[in-house]
Amino acid sequence: MYNKAIGSSHEVPVDIDKIIVDDLTIQSLRSMVRLSRTREGLLMQVKAEAEVLTACVRCLKDIFLPVETEFEELYQFFSRHREETDLILPNDGYLDLRPVYREYFILAMPIKRLCDSNCRGLCVVCGANLNEMTCEHQSVEAVQSATLEQEA
Ligand SMILES: [Zn+2]
Ligand SMILES: [Zn+2]
Repeated sequence: MYNKAIGSSHEVPVDIDKIIVDDLTIQSLRSMVRLSRTREGLLMQVKAEAEVLTACVRCLKDIFLPVETEFEELYQFFSRHREETDLILPNDGYLDLRPVYREYFILAMPIKRLCDSNCRGLCVVCGANLNEMTCEHQSVEAVQSATLEQEA
């Protein structure tokens, strides 16, 4: 790829069953990576979808959330004018996509992460997961009095 003519490009599918990068677990990754030779280096354009391990914001259960992302990065040939943040083409020609995928999947994650749009969350009194059980605090009066107690 390095000695290809400027402007040439090709697409490669990158599918990975599971990757764990630092604190992030990604599974069922399906992506299409387009690499184009430019004057400065290699331009990588990625379309990817995967399931990202996170916790439901209501009931805190671990869930694999479907996330899609599209991004591009330029891997530059060595240049004295580069900035700290620039990606540099490694000499062995091996691009480690994992940290890049980690960064963009985190950016693409929705703020409202729910196991289900109808998730009932946790009981405010005893912490029971109300998707899995009911507890004695679920009458309206009980929840109201519990809320008053917490405010008092
Ligand atoms: Zn939930
Ligand atoms: Zn309860």
